[in-house]
Amino acid sequence: MAKAKKAAKKSVKKAARKPAKRKPAGKPTTSAVAVARAAARSVSGRAKATAGIPKPHIARAGDAVRIGVLGGSGIYGMAGLKNTKWRKVSTPWGDPSDELLFGTLDGAELVFLPRHGRGHVHSPSEVNYRANIDALKRVGCQDVISVSACGSFKEQLAPGTFVIVDQFIDRTFMRQKSFFSTGMVAHVSCGHPVCSRLGDALEAAAREAGIIAQRGGTYLCMEGPQFSTQAESFLYKSWGCDVIGMTNAPEAKLAREAELCYASVAMVTDYDCWHPDHDHVDVAAVIRVLLGNAEKGQALVAKAVPHLKHRPGHCPQGCDRVLDTALITAPEKRDPKVLKKLDAVAGRVLKA
Ligand SMILES: [Zn+2]
Repeated sequence: MAKAKKAAKKSVKKAARKPAKRKPAGKPTTSAVAVARAAARSVSGRAKATAGIPKPHIARAGDAVRIGVLGGSGIYGMAGLKNTKWRKVSTPWGDPSDELLFGTLDGAELVFLPRHGRGHVHSPSEVNYRANIDALKRVGCQDVISVSACGSFKEQLAPGTFVIVDQFIDRTFMRQKSFFSTGMVAHVSCGHPVCSRLGDALEAAAREAGIIAQRGGTYLCMEGPQFSTQAESFLYKSWGCDVIGMTNAPEAKLAREAELCYASVAMVTDYDCWHPDHDHVDVAAVIRVLLGNAEKGQALVAKAVPHLKHRPGHCPQGCDRVLDTALITAPEKRDPKVLKKLDAVAGRVLKA
């Protein structure tokens, strides 16, 4: 690769991780204030908050559906969200990446969280995934949709294509990837790490929005923040991976531990560095892809909402019941301090 072209590609990839201009949320409307107050009530109404951490709102059958959305590179807000209010939510695991944006979309309650923070301040290795997932659970989300940028390992998964991921290979090594530890050990099943009910909704939404999307695909999660070497890229491609990113695997594992239904849409921005035509990237085209993907990603979420508004009493796949068979530490050996931190994540089973 010519040096100039290498530099151009580097700057494009850098640009790909830069924040898109964020639309101002504007002055909250009366109903926005009402939503925020309701949210505050919902997380604190059942008991007093401790040390600034709101008591969890454990969603119950019949509760209004509240959908969590984790936005990746290029997505720092959610178009179409009404009655919006940013609100800080602390957790026993530290602070999430940013405040959470509460709002309504098509009659459903949405809680949006920019994974890297507004302004893209947290690197993939430094995102507090446990706090992000705990916060979404704590405020009553049951379904969580992740929307993030990725590289592609398949010729047919061209830039602009979406992949509704259903498997992960986790190559990260600097993350906190479990809520459980000495004092309360649990082993959850991750054979099918995403929720197929959410996948169905996203597939239908993509069809309705006219977005080219592949249902199913393996996401290689690398540590980063540097992109792959070519040897790594060829290796991952030989493993049959579809896309590569830096965030989704820890998140999916934690969402599973927290009994949340989780699904991920990976939006292709480039071909990583295995592609023979990689040197011939049109800079403007790649930037257009990222911005276009961010817009399409938000449109996809909006289209998915009607499919998710009526949640079944329990997830057919059992995402919301995984802890029934996962806790292994004998009750008398459980550490109360550890249990306390699990109030949102595992409150359902630990209080049973
Ligand atoms: Zn599920």
